[in-house]
This record gives sequence, structure tokens and C-alpha cells, in this order.
Amino acid sequence: MQTIYMDYNATTPIDPQVLSAMQPYLHEHFGNPASSTHMYGWTAEEAVSKARRQVAKLLNCNSHEIYFTSGSTESNNWALRGVIEKLKLENPGAPLHVISSSIEHSSVKECLEYLKKLFAIEISWAKVTGEGQVDISDVRKLIKPHTRLLSFMWVNNEIGTINPMQELGEIAREAKAYLHCDATQAVGKVPIDLKNTPVDLLSISAHKAYGPKGVGALYVRGQNPKVQLSPFFLGGGQERGERSGTLNVAGIVGLGKTCEIVSERITTDIAKLTALRDQLWTLLSEAFPTARLNGHLTARAPNLLNVTFINYKVPVQFPGLAVSKSSACHSGPQSHSHVLTHLGFSEKEMDSTIRFSLGRMTNEEELKSCIEILKKTLSKI
Ligand code: PMP
Repeated sequence: MQTIYMDYNATTPIDPQVLSAMQPYLHEHFGNPASSTHMYGWTAEEAVSKARRQVAKLLNCNSHEIYFTSGSTESNNWALRGVIEKLKLENPGAPLHVISSSIEHSSVKECLEYLKKLFAIEISWAKVTGEGQVDISDVRKLIKPHTRLLSFMWVNNEIGTINPMQELGEIAREAKAYLHCDATQAVGKVPIDLKNTPVDLLSISAHKAYGPKGVGALYVRGQNPKVQLSPFFLGGGQERGERSGTLNVAGIVGLGKTCEIVSERITTDIAKLTALRDQLWTLLSEAFPTARLNGHLTARAPNLLNVTFINYKVPVQFPGLAVSKSSACHSGPQSHSHVLTHLGFSEKEMDSTIRFSLGRMTNEEELKSCIEILKKTLSKI
């Protein structure tokens, strides 16, 4: 029996066009882009430059504002640490305040907790509404004269709620603080336009958008304001001295192609996913009338349904259906999601909750089979 994949927020299969774009860079064009004395190096360097332009086009920014990384965990860590470290090195005694939210991905939360210990910074965790949106009025109240950085995700990976990045950016601008955004789950699901959105640092990852694992990017605003941050890795001076390490050329080519494909098909993908998502919810609520849809009704990712099956026990694993109870980083049998915990879910509710994340290969047949599998596997309490 084939397992129906509905866990596209955990990762996505690589697009065949992305794979074929990458392949030559693993073999015949194996050069190191830092080799400036021969054609092997030039070919690799050209491929990296092209990928930088493809990423910049998707995000509507300049290509010199893009730095390649190993994925969003690294981009998030670099953005936060880079800004804080730079400020602390310049002015060690000055107080420094950061605002974020408790439903951020662990690569933001854990990193900020660590930086708090390392640099004795102050962190405020802004309130989040029951639908999982950052409470704008609370963010305004939390601003202090020494607030220098805000960090909020664009789309929540577990409940799919979309944050008002424009308003958050305007608050950051007024406070003369930078705004970092973890946009890992936004790529391909929400249009991103950095020329017209006041976000200063932005993290993305290829494998959430039909690209390869282990490669991503950090956008660093180059002007108005020019973001000042410390380098993350020190060494050979790659990425204009900001992130040393031989570049993952094939991965970077893959990220570039991923972004090119997303730029071309984002509008049709959003329309198709929204229709499938709404259809799945109709089928689910017919089959399970007590099912409750979590998250925001309208400001929601087009591919995501987070559902609590009230009065049903949800098994840890589903034969024939790949879904999850929370994010892939927290899907061990014992662990409960920090996002749902923070949104006030009881343990019982969390045990009855499933995240369905749909993707480009999802079809109507799969939706129907999913309902049949759920009818067989969910047992009434
Ligand atoms: N942020 C969010 C919102 C995510 O969903 C993930 C992946 N689960 C990450 C960051 C980490 O991304 P990566 O796998 O590229 O390190």
C-alpha cells in the first residue's frame, strides 16, 4: 500500500527540474567557485551568481543582499547572533532588548535563550492571539528605547497562521530596530516582496519548496537601513567574508532553480492548494462533525489544516498516511508541541490534533483516501 504524503511542511520531494539543474554541478562542473584562475572555478562561480539572482528575483531584492547558508536553522541563528554580537562588540555596556514570540521555531527560540545567557540581553516574548497571530498592540507596548531587534515568523509551521509582516516592520522602523523574519514556511505560499515590506533579515530553506535539503539563504538588507551583523563562520572569506566555507554549489544551483520555479507558479500553486485545503476541511468536518479547525480562518497558509478531533484518540503513527502531530522537529512519541502548548491546548487536545500539510502532488483522490484511513484509525474516546 502506498503511503499518502500530507506532511509537506516537514519537507517536500525535490522537483525533477531542480534535480536536473543540480546534477552537472556534482560531476562535470565540480569546480570550486573560489578558484579564480581557471574555467572550473569560473563555471561554478557563474552558476552561484545565477542562483543568487534567481533567489533575489523571488524575494524582490538585490542579489548582493543574498547569502547562501545550510538552511533556515543556520539563517535564523546567524541573523539573531550576528546582529546581537555586532551591537555588543561595538558597545558592550549598552542595554539591548529583543522582542520575539513563544511560537517561533526552535531555531529562533533556543538561539535567543542562548544569546540571553551569553550576552545578558533582555528578551520579551510578545503575546500571541488564540489563532496564533502575533498581538500587534502587545508588540507596540513592549518596545523600549533600547529595543534593537524583533524576530517573527511569516507563516507558522504548525498551525499555518500568517503574521502581519508589514505592520510588524512598521513598528520596527519606528523603533529604529531591525526586523528579522523566519520565512521558511512562506516560500511558495505567500508572495514575498522585500522592496515593499520593511523586513531587514529573512531566512529561507530550499527543502520546504521542492528543493534540496541542507541549503538555504539569509537576506540581509543592504540599505535603508543597511543591516550591520557579525560574520557567522570565519575562514576562507567566502560570501564576501560574511560566511566562510566552500560553497555547496549543487545545492545552491538547486535553491536558485527552486526559487525560479516558485516565481513562475506561485499564483497557480496558491489557488490549487487553497481549493484542496478547503475541500479536505469539508470532507473532514462531514466525517467527524466534532472536528475543530485550529488557527486563523483567513490569514492561513494555503496548504495547511491543523485539526483537533474532539473526543477521538489519534494514534502516534498512521498506516498509509504521512501526517504529523506537530513539527518534524518535535514529532517524537512523548513530546508535545510548544506552539500548541503556548496556544493553551490541553494535553488531551494535543493528543487529538493532527497537522495536514498539502503540496504540489496532492490530488482529490488522496483527500478521499485520507478520510477513509482516518475513519479506520481514529477511535472514539
Ligand atoms: N523555521 C521553520 C518555521 C521551519 O518550519 C523549519 C523547518 N522545520 C526551520 C525553521 C528549520 O529549517 P531547516 O530545516 O532548513 O534548518
